[in-house]
Amino acid sequence: MELKGLSSAIGVIGTAVSAVNGILRMTIDVETKTKLSRVLDMLIDTQGKLQEAIAATAALERRIVDLEDNKMKIEQFRAEKAGYRLAPKGPGSFVYVQKELTRGEEPLPEFCAACFDQEVKSILQLTRRVPGGQVFGCSRCRAEILVPLESAGDTIESTGRRRSNLDDYLD
Ligand SMILES: [Zn+2]
Repeated sequence: MELKGLSSAIGVIGTAVSAVNGILRMTIDVETKTKLSRVLDMLIDTQGKLQEAIAATAALERRIVDLEDNKMKIEQFRAEKAGYRLAPKGPGSFVYVQKELTRGEEPLPEFCAACFDQEVKSILQLTRRVPGGQVFGCSRCRAEILVPLESAGDTIESTGRRRSNLDDYLD
């Protein structure tokens, strides 16, 4: 039964309870009073059961709304996902970036691939710097990507060059 039907049924029972209570307050014989009291108990019991049914139906209706909302979000995400592509980030790691955007002056938002595959967009952020690289992390799944600094190799090379220059000078 729908919530509306259950609510009107509980209204009818409420009216019946009032009516029976009204009769019970009147001067009536004991036998009638006993029988009416039993009817009243049954009505009150039914009222309780209807209230439980209303609560259960309301919970189900909320659940249906939640599920439909969730389904809509999933469908929206799947449509949106078509606008993204996997791009390499660090050795052996990938992130999702928007297809139509190209790397310019503005850095592209990069999304955690693991979360993206679970249909959640979680932006990767620079979490810390380590010697020779930067670590990007996902705040949702705690995944981390180490991206070596491009200048790291040059620094070692230039140090080597400096040393050989010094050797030349000493010779
Ligand atoms: Zn993640």
